[in-house]
Amino acid sequence: MMIVMKPGATPQQVENVISYVIDLGLTPHLEQGVENVFIGLLGQNYSIPVETLEALEGVQQVTRISQAFKLASRQFQSEDSVFPLAGYNVGGNDIILIAGPCAVESRSQIIETAQAVREAGANALRGGVFKPRTSPYAFQGLGEQGLEFLAEAGQATGMPVVAEIVSETQLEVMLKYVDVLQIGARNMQNFYLLSAVGQVRTPVLLKRGPAATIEEFLMSAEYILTGGNRHVILCERGIRTFETTTRNTTDINAIPALKALSHLPVILDPSHSTGLSEYVPAVARAAIAAGADGLIIEVHPDPPRALSDGRQSLTPEQFAELMHQIRAIAEAMSRKIARVGHNLSDGW
Ligand code: PEP
Ligand code: MN
Repeated sequence: MMIVMKPGATPQQVENVISYVIDLGLTPHLEQGVENVFIGLLGQNYSIPVETLEALEGVQQVTRISQAFKLASRQFQSEDSVFPLAGYNVGGNDIILIAGPCAVESRSQIIETAQAVREAGANALRGGVFKPRTSPYAFQGLGEQGLEFLAEAGQATGMPVVAEIVSETQLEVMLKYVDVLQIGARNMQNFYLLSAVGQVRTPVLLKRGPAATIEEFLMSAEYILTGGNRHVILCERGIRTFETTTRNTTDINAIPALKALSHLPVILDPSHSTGLSEYVPAVARAAIAAGADGLIIEVHPDPPRALSDGRQSLTPEQFAELMHQIRAIAEAMSRKIARVGHNLSDGW
């Protein structure tokens, strides 16, 4: 349920509504709009008549949020969520372009990649250090040393850094180094991990599980939002279908669907959704045309020698070429690729 306070409702009136709903066993979530205060009500006690709440002083309107997800819903917040990251906005008109290797493999590899993608126009750097691999014999990532290299590469190029967290026990170390916490597809329904990242205020890039419905995906976002962390980026990364030509099937429908159902920014990962570098540019272009707020793309200086996901990684040259195309499509959509507030010549 959602209470909209009248414009000019007094703090005392807001306070009275809040204590009233707490007494009913509901949890209020306050949102200050341009003119009105909004109070989202979460909890089991959904039987309270709307009229009872509407009779409280200062209340303009009370509506029921029909969807299972509440805080993530557009019914709760009609305007797009926009939040700052490294001097630009995630969501809104800006497009976030996260690029980098699947995994941080060495200091020189991540620094070289960071410089190349930054030069091409990327505005955030990715690099996994705790890799969720299908095989226990595959490269598992460099751990904390990888975080040091990643943070150094981010600082040298002025880009915020994104890395995946696979367990809540890594939260402390991750927060020392990263600007955005990635929750991988395999962990989309790791509810303890979702709750843990809900407790911090670092933005979270939440990937859709390979077999998750859009509603399940948004329910996972809800776990983070109810903890108080409102900076959630939704990432479509392909789903499992009967098709085997590509690694996954890009659910391009998910982009307009998520944008319609939720106010959260939505991005696409064409690297994991296709699994093949030759298809990445086409699908990346389609995502921006479909209204995505950004992309996360794997780039490796030497894909055939990558320790993970080389087959789907672009070379820096291929990425630079794609950036030209993305810029043109963004412009056609009246959007722009966000720029990090750092002059290349200042850094290196
Ligand atoms: C990754 O980003 O490298 C990754 C493991 O992605 P996903 O969780 O989407 O498979
Ligand atoms: Mn990968």
